Amino acid sequence: MARKFREKKLVVASHNPGKVREISELLKPFGVEVYSSGELKLTEPEETGSTFLENAELKARSAARESGLVALADDSGLVVPALGGIPGIHSARYAERPDTGKRDFSWGMNKLHRELEEKQIEKRSAHFSCALSLAWPPCKEFPEGHVETFEGRVYGTLVWPVRGDQGFGYDPMFEADGYHQTFGEMDPGEKHDISHRADAFRKLIKACFEQ
Ligand code: IMP
Repeated sequence: MARKFREKKLVVASHNPGKVREISELLKPFGVEVYSSGELKLTEPEETGSTFLENAELKARSAARESGLVALADDSGLVVPALGGIPGIHSARYAERPDTGKRDFSWGMNKLHRELEEKQIEKRSAHFSCALSLAWPPCKEFPEGHVETFEGRVYGTLVWPVRGDQGFGYDPMFEADGYHQTFGEMDPGEKHDISHRADAFRKLIKACFEQ
């Protein structure tokens, strides 16, 4: 049985205001006071894990330890099994252009397409994955703290050429199984219902927030 969240306050271990807003909305029905690690001036730990789960856990544990509050962190990305799982936990970094050092997802999707072509990979299955960790700060009873982690996924196929300009990141290249639009073409509300993030959140809410 997962540990239930019974506190009043929670810190979202992210400096991204969009992400903090989205999570606050999702937790509204549970009357939680949500803070961000930005406003509490928490440090951002180095993401040294080798999986989405490890990185989400280390971010959540670090924010819980520093703030003394329960902390929620996520880690997500795109996985292409035929290419050994890349870009995976390096999804954001994979799209950094060597000439400018800046993230450019059109360039990143092109790079991914070239890798698939070079290796003559026909079966272009892929999935987005999202790990969500809820960490309680250390206390007398649990000196190591406590963490609950959930993973959500959405399976699909990579398309070329890319289609659509909605969403972000690798959305225009990804068509979820059973759909004919890419995430870049889909109505954002529809994407939010079927995404890896929605899947992980449903699991987290069911296990830790619903009494
Ligand atoms: P982070 O977990 O917010 O650091 O996201 C890591 C990277 O994964 C993002 O920069 C995107 O490249 C990619 N990613 C995660 N979720 C999505 C998604 O829903 N659509 C497209 N790309 C995503």
